[in-house]
Amino acid sequence: MSSIELKNIVKKYGDGFPAVNDVSLDIADGEFMILVGPSGCGKSTLLRMVVGLEDITSGDLLINGKRVNDLAPRDRNLSMVFQNYALYPHLTVFENIAFPLRLAKGKHSDDEIRSKVNDAANMLELKDHLERKPANLSGGQRQRVAMGRAIVRDAEAFLFDEPLSNLDAKLRGQMRTEIARMQRRLGVTTIYVTHDQTEAMTLGDRVAVLKKGVLQQVASPRELYEQP
Ligand code: ADP
Ligand code: ADP
Repeated sequence: MSSIELKNIVKKYGDGFPAVNDVSLDIADGEFMILVGPSGCGKSTLLRMVVGLEDITSGDLLINGKRVNDLAPRDRNLSMVFQNYALYPHLTVFENIAFPLRLAKGKHSDDEIRSKVNDAANMLELKDHLERKPANLSGGQRQRVAMGRAIVRDAEAFLFDEPLSNLDAKLRGQMRTEIARMQRRLGVTTIYVTHDQTEAMTLGDRVAVLKKGVLQQVASPRELYEQP
């Protein structure tokens, strides 16, 4: 578990206007931080820089006080959950969840993998679906598999990129509750990107509002709600 600090982070694609412009933000150990703003405001870019999928043009990114700008994604040990789930269609639910553990070759015994996957499957109510393939799951179940894969890794932090936007309204509400509960239970530092106001106001400890690449405000949902 870890703190994440962004110090004057800038991202420029080519020589245009910066997609992310001088963003500074401290995310405390165990905190659930929401990143909200309209489409194109730089949310995904910011998240991809944190996870290491995108170079930082200038500024410093610190995880647990250590500068990680130049670390490869795998060495940052962050778990990202994507909008499209990014599951492997030919693998079972079990193997999809186990994938990051198998990738860390020799680090985990088969028993350990089985036990970690089963724990995650229990928490996410996937126990009866472990032998299925993603194509035979509902949208909500696929989302849970993606979360299962994130939680088995003992990652430093979870990064969510609009994870519920492909679900219908009812399921979205249900998954919202589940994600909040899972985050509280695991106490893992989380950054959650959304353009959905309800998610922004109900899920997190604090909300960071981004507009045209610039951080407008960072406040608790309550503070945002009560402001004139
Ligand atoms: P959001 O996630 O808030 O919708 P993005 O981070 O995807 O915003 O995009 C922020 C800005 O950066 C947008 O103007 C977008 O067009 C631009 N952008 C994003 N990715 C690239 C890229 N790979 N190359 C050039 N411009 C990009
Ligand atoms: P989002 O749902 O995050 O807004 P988009 O549909 O804007 O995603 O972007 C999807 C992908 O296209 C991202 O990987 C992003 O980097 C890339 N992208 C977005 N805008 C541009 C752009 N102007 N030029 C090149 N790539 C872009």
